[in-house]
Amino acid sequence: MWRVLLICLCVLGACTTGYNTGGVTQVPGQLGEDPERAEQLFFQVVRDMQPVAQSECRKKRRDNFCEFVILVDVDPRSPPNAYQTLSDDGQPMLTMTASMIASFQTADEMAFVMAHEVAHHILRHLEQQQDTVAASAELYARLAAQQGGSPRDIRRAQQLGAQVGAQAYSQDYEFEADRLGTVMTARAGYDPVLGSKYFLRLPEPDDTYLATHPPNEERRQMVAKTAAELGL
Ligand SMILES: [Zn+2]
Repeated sequence: MWRVLLICLCVLGACTTGYNTGGVTQVPGQLGEDPERAEQLFFQVVRDMQPVAQSECRKKRRDNFCEFVILVDVDPRSPPNAYQTLSDDGQPMLTMTASMIASFQTADEMAFVMAHEVAHHILRHLEQQQDTVAASAELYARLAAQQGGSPRDIRRAQQLGAQVGAQAYSQDYEFEADRLGTVMTARAGYDPVLGSKYFLRLPEPDDTYLATHPPNEERRQMVAKTAAELGL
């Protein structure tokens, strides 16, 4: 059974895969204009997504780490965001801020973002990212040590290695989560193509080699392509 908890998050874990929205363009017709309807739709989407996410998780992961806890960060100061973390015992936690829920225009958008975050867990992106970060940090530190670097140089190299490792596959992970998220959104009874309209209101990710997220239009095209393959 999924649990939905309303919380006020003051400290966020460092290890997350998230939406990093950094601000969503405000448009008329967002659910925040009708908080009661927003809440109703949110619980409906959670109910519809639960069986799909759990069966997909058990099928793909083949372990017992499929007991999702859905958290809503009700702090009005928290910016629009959704992200996946792990509890101490390794179970997936999916957090959505109230301002993000308010920024959706449709239940399809809400379902798509929820499915995308669930997909990050099913595909083990967080675990893989942590492994890459650790390996890259170690490699950079070793190279600095081999070149006779001071303890400070080695520490800096280690930090740089961790940063490079964190970015290494992040864009691939986003596309993979969009792809599986599209499938799960459709299975839960929502329209992933309509859901991906949310990308139109997201700020474009930094145009640098360290950008964690691919361009929004490419993500929308990935959703459309996957939906077409599903015959939607
Ligand atoms: Zn993501």
